[in-house]
Amino acid sequence: MDRLAIVVPCYNEEEVLKIASKALRDVLDDLIKKEKIAQDSFILFVNDGSKDRTWELIEEEHAAYPVQVKGVKLAGNVGHQFALTAGLITAKDMSDVTVSIDADLQDDVNVIEEMIDKYHAGNDIVYGVRSDRGTDTFFKRATAQGFYKVMNAMGVKTVYNHADFRLMSKRAVEQFSQYTETNLYLRGMMPLIGYQTDSVYYVRKERVAGESKYPLKKMLSLAFNGITSFSIKPISLITTLGVIIIVGCIAAAVYALISYFTGNVVQGWTSLILSIWFIGGVQLLAIGLVGQYIGKIYVEVKHRPRYNIEKVLGE
Ligand code: UDP
Ligand code: MG
Repeated sequence: MDRLAIVVPCYNEEEVLKIASKALRDVLDDLIKKEKIAQDSFILFVNDGSKDRTWELIEEEHAAYPVQVKGVKLAGNVGHQFALTAGLITAKDMSDVTVSIDADLQDDVNVIEEMIDKYHAGNDIVYGVRSDRGTDTFFKRATAQGFYKVMNAMGVKTVYNHADFRLMSKRAVEQFSQYTETNLYLRGMMPLIGYQTDSVYYVRKERVAGESKYPLKKMLSLAFNGITSFSIKPISLITTLGVIIIVGCIAAAVYALISYFTGNVVQGWTSLILSIWFIGGVQLLAIGLVGQYIGKIYVEVKHRPRYNIEKVLGE
């Protein structure tokens, strides 16, 4: 029987912690009863440097349910993506399979069973996908959708409407831990891991209590990080722009020369306007070229694994 670890990053979640703990313990009990996971499966709360009583509550839960509830205390606030990574990597050595979920129970805990079923069916990663965004504000919905489109245009593969509610097998987490980059964007990294994946669908609910720890500022920085951590397309865009302007310069040259020969120009205008266009284009092209090298350096310093062997036949 496989030992499940449910990893829950928590930042100032004193209002929801006990509710989340109860809901997730019920899920564990149910799955244990149905003999789908091992008896000693557990919840791993990661306290991401909370300023409220979150950690005290995690300690209380652990004292009351020593097998089922465990905790990791980070020394300071490092943000959701890092807190989750810390949790996953800690959990991987104590379990066979992990499920990550937010503390606020917006994601439906009842589909964890379906995730486990799909794991038993041979999937290494199972994505939790929102089938509807009814509870989100129009603004959040529109920005989120726009974001997925931009990401796609930039060549970053992401699973549509999937946040960080997902199941990962031990070997998937192990492979993920080889991605040592510090600019983390987990959703974009999962498809790089490979292996067989599947999705489960659910309706995202309102927060049980407390308020969002992801204000617009953090959302934008996550989005920006997502793009700049995965794509050097913006640099190529500069190069393209340089080429376009140089082509534009040729058109401007034709126009300026015609004007010059028809004689209705101020002295010196032709050479001036041509230099402006030409220099502008050359500069952008040059910046773009330097950018291409920086882009390469940037990809290299990530030291990402270059491949992940899933199976070798005939060993
Ligand atoms: N979180 C975290 N560190 C942070 C901010 C958030 O660990 O610096 C956790 C938070 O406790 C929650 C999850 O990340 O479990 C998602 O945050 P939230 O629900 O506030 O985001 P939203 O659902 O509003 O996008
Ligand atoms: Mg939330």
